[in-house]
Amino acid sequence: MQTCETKVELRDVLKKHHAANQMIVLVPTMGALHAGHQSLLEQARQMAGKDGVVVSSLFVNPIQFNNAGDLQTYPRTPEQDLEICQRAGVDYVFTPTPEEMYTGVRSISVEETYLSTTLCGASRPGHFAGVCTVLAKLFNIVQPTDAIFGKKDYQQLAIIRRLVRDLDIPVRIHGAEIVRHENGLAYSSRNARLTATQKEEATVLRQALLQAKNEFRAGVPVAEVKANASAMINKVAGTEIDYLEIVNAETMQPIEENADPALLATAVYFGDVRLIDNIEL
Ligand code: AMP
Repeated sequence: MQTCETKVELRDVLKKHHAANQMIVLVPTMGALHAGHQSLLEQARQMAGKDGVVVSSLFVNPIQFNNAGDLQTYPRTPEQDLEICQRAGVDYVFTPTPEEMYTGVRSISVEETYLSTTLCGASRPGHFAGVCTVLAKLFNIVQPTDAIFGKKDYQQLAIIRRLVRDLDIPVRIHGAEIVRHENGLAYSSRNARLTATQKEEATVLRQALLQAKNEFRAGVPVAEVKANASAMINKVAGTEIDYLEIVNAETMQPIEENADPALLATAVYFGDVRLIDNIEL
């Protein structure tokens, strides 16, 4: 495994793989790697096979944080991250500094204007423009044949599919299933900021999502499904729902009827830690 800190270095080492028409599978991350990321990396390794290469990026992208405190407290575990990458069979790890990634005054931003108007896009202004901008850059730097993203960030995955479609970026986008702890809590880098009690309490998210799925499938009206799920979460002291919405799983726009494909997505504060989760209904 080789670590590259600069764009020039990474482009340089990838040249031979492009020349040989090899499969290049990219897994972008913000580090603080856990079992969810590990699963993406392993899927990338499998996809690339022995003839292809796997590239992962570890970069806490400052421009996708709409909250300075969140950026500052975002967990960082660089040494452990490299070990996880190595174990998963990653070939190249890209670890740029923010200064390396964004040279000089930035005056171009890539903005999605439809799918990103709801859910996290509504509650975190500028977040998805930051995501799309850094991914457009990573796609240009790496020029991967394939890239893998988790369904944990379902709206992000939908927006990325739109990004590459609308900008004709020649990369295949793959969605990976959410990896959860045995108790149902989805792995997240932000879980590291929860107390042991909060980690236990946060399992209410999965319970609320599963209940909602059952109700939705049984024909309970959408408004009632949402109200019941919210009530279950609100029962846990110290939680604050940022949003809990049922949307069309492709357009990310709220729906009022029990129609497929539907997604329930939620963001909930446990103390000052904001967790997201979702379920395909
Ligand atoms: P992040 O480092 O949070 O930006 O995440 C990097 C990638 O890992 C994104 O595509 C996420 O959707 C994905 N990811 C994060 N947590 C999980 C999880 N629990 N299961 C599956 N994928 C995940």
